Amino acid sequence: MRVLPPTTPLPPPLAAVRDTVTRLFASRIVPEIGSWEARRTFPRPLVRAMGEAGLFGAAFPEHVGGSDLGFRAVAVIAEEVSRIRPDFGYCMNLQAMTCPFTILNWGTEEQIARFVPGLIAGETIGMFALTEAGGGSDPAGAMRTTARREGDRYILNGSKQWITFSNEADVGVLFAKTDPSAGHRGITAFIVEPKSGSGYRAVPIPMRGLSPVFASCSVFLDDFAVPVENRLGAEGEGFRIAMNALEFGRLTVAARLVGAAQGCLDHAVAYAREREVGGKPIGRHQLVQGLVADMAAEIAAARALVRELAEVMDAGEPANRLASLAKYFASRAAKTAVANATEIFGGYALADEYPISMFKGFIEMLNVGEGSQNVQKVLIAEDALGFKDANRASVPARKFRTLAAE
Ligand SMILES: Cc1cc2nc3c(=O)[nH]c(=O)nc-3n(C[C@H](O)[C@H](O)[C@H](O)COP(=O)(O)OP(=O)(O)OC[C@H]3O[C@@H](n4cnc5c(N)ncnc54)[C@H](O)[C@@H]3O)c2cc1C
Repeated sequence: MRVLPPTTPLPPPLAAVRDTVTRLFASRIVPEIGSWEARRTFPRPLVRAMGEAGLFGAAFPEHVGGSDLGFRAVAVIAEEVSRIRPDFGYCMNLQAMTCPFTILNWGTEEQIARFVPGLIAGETIGMFALTEAGGGSDPAGAMRTTARREGDRYILNGSKQWITFSNEADVGVLFAKTDPSAGHRGITAFIVEPKSGSGYRAVPIPMRGLSPVFASCSVFLDDFAVPVENRLGAEGEGFRIAMNALEFGRLTVAARLVGAAQGCLDHAVAYAREREVGGKPIGRHQLVQGLVADMAAEIAAARALVRELAEVMDAGEPANRLASLAKYFASRAAKTAVANATEIFGGYALADEYPISMFKGFIEMLNVGEGSQNVQKVLIAEDALGFKDANRASVPARKFRTLAAE
């Protein structure tokens, strides 16, 4: 397959990071994943290998096991992972961002020391449980899960929907209402340990076109106990924590969309050079070239937005506007890429021999993950119009915050 290089070359340290991903997937992940898929089993050793190679720790300080390379490196890693295997892109959110980074950003020193190193090493599996069946686009309005304080623990009851890795997770960040009458101000965040006791059940949601090994599940909480020391932040601070987690999560989701789009382009270009119809490679037909050009242009623009977002995050500047712009545009670019790749492959787009249908499933999933396109549009427009909700104010990574600002 002809792999198209990014339009702007990466500086050497980031190119080295990308090469680490490429090598690990070529030598270990791609050769081994088939046997895990045949057994429909979560590939813990492969996630562990990603952690050991440093793929999850780029945004984390060295004292918790990270490399402190920053968000530009996170974006490069997430893109390359998703270009090769969009299913493993899940790990870039759950092992590298929404679960451990939210603990790093809001947790106590004890919580960080206890949970973060294992997650970014790939030793423990993470999850992020915000969405409920009543509608992911309005997480506060839809939230029915409650947490009732009883002495030195909280008792959680309710259910969550679409929670990725929740049937395997050792650690999760989960949101529940400690004061159901207080709207979004009644939401509290918790670090949960699903295997720590009774009252937790995760049931995979049957889905077509995604992964046989990585599941998203309905989670049922029935008097599930969480110790008080596992509360993340203060009571009532959960909505702010969730919005902040989604802001950082949008970086990885946008980068994953760019990667999946680039994967579609790479495969489409290789196919268009080799497939001959009418006595010449289909890539010599100008209408096919038009499809390739549209893919390449939109991917380049989306990548530039993701890089700008990562740079703003690395500088500790408010990033929520760019996070929505990058996620919104990357999703559009990825939809163009998979639609055009499907045209180029003709009937073979549907054949298991080629990965286009796998890219399609993940691009559709990423289109809603960390906020649907409509949600991004509303956020972008409200920001432009000056109507932005103060609860959605951007909070930079902890190392850029002073205690007074907290
Ligand atoms: C495979 C998969 C994995 C996921 N993993 C996780 C996870 O690990 N953790 C987690 O917490 N969540 C997860 N999610 C949930 C995801 O974040 C939600 O699906 C997403 O937020 C959208 O919510 P919804 O599906 O309930 O759609 P809805 O909120 O019901 O929205 C349906 C449609 O209505 C539109 N809409 C809704 N409200 C408005 C409005 N006010 N204005 C305009 N349009 C609107 C939306 O844009 C969308 O097009 C996952 C989802 C999938 C599919």
